[in-house]
Amino acid sequence: MSEPLLSLRDVVVEFPTRRGVLRALDGISLDVNAGEVLGLVGESGAGKSMIGSAIIGLIAPPGRIASGEIRLSGQRIDNLGPSQMRALRGKRIGMVFQDPLTSLNPLYTIADQLVETIRTHLPVTAAEARAQAIALLDRVGIPAAAQRIDDYPHHFSGGMRQRVVIALALCAQPDLVIADEPTTALDVSVQAQIIDLLKDICAERGAAVVLITHDMGVIAQTADRVAVVYAGRMAEIGPVSDVIHRPAHPYTRGLMGSIPSLREERARLVQIPGAMPRLDAISAGCAFHPRCDVATAACATTRPAMTHLVSAQKGEQSADRFAACLLLDHTAREGGEHGG
Ligand code: SF4
Repeated sequence: MSEPLLSLRDVVVEFPTRRGVLRALDGISLDVNAGEVLGLVGESGAGKSMIGSAIIGLIAPPGRIASGEIRLSGQRIDNLGPSQMRALRGKRIGMVFQDPLTSLNPLYTIADQLVETIRTHLPVTAAEARAQAIALLDRVGIPAAAQRIDDYPHHFSGGMRQRVVIALALCAQPDLVIADEPTTALDVSVQAQIIDLLKDICAERGAAVVLITHDMGVIAQTADRVAVVYAGRMAEIGPVSDVIHRPAHPYTRGLMGSIPSLREERARLVQIPGAMPRLDAISAGCAFHPRCDVATAACATTRPAMTHLVSAQKGEQSADRFAACLLLDHTAREGGEHGG
């Protein structure tokens, strides 16, 4: 199998506080292959956005990556200095955040921002960069792009601004796009268009996407594989159809059971009791055990390792499935433990 584009191995992110060190990520491992869409899903506070921040080197101090490795095309990036990381962001890693106004400077026109970003990362003239910017705005569905490029961000609607942000994220032809809740602030009717657009353009350009969302519906529609995160730990990872239709981890089952379905009649939605623990109150053993409806005594003392599961699509490159639970169906285990 070829080397993954992005690889995280046992990444631990810590925040020193007066009351001790808090672990926001606790041994996260995952791979993302070129051209693939990996969804990161979990409730608020699960740590999924922290994974995105760790990848792009934007963990707010005093937080830090305490151990583990992050590699892009085999090169370690978790130990780069601020200027090297800045060069990587934009050029090799594009970013799309929930609020487009955090990515766009309100004082500059769209042309200023796109042309400057293109010229920072690609060896082109100002005229060539402007032509590329107009073509990209046209591709992301901005009508009359040649005229609108000289408008300011406030001249655009929320949905149109997010299209501009996608153009900004892709203008330097990155290998990887981190999209953190890219549609949460938008109308439902616009959400699907933006997600489809992001997926189509990344597929055209061979860019991989890490899509961070709390919305399983978005994951089902978009992702090739999905990683379920709980309390800064990986609960389950695998091909999206396997994880959605045959969730192995009780937390994933709870997330799936809480989604309304238009196709199937469901007597009532399942609610996961309790709430995501605060970082200073994560239980020993399995972090999910206080909320788990099938927990045993062992779950309170033994932390489950990621275990390889047999997949319905076994044999395909992205078909590997892993889950961290002491009560996995033993017939589903393939043997061995792995980080994801
Ligand atoms: Fe539930 Fe135990 Fe599995 Fe954790 S290890 S998810 S508490 S059954």
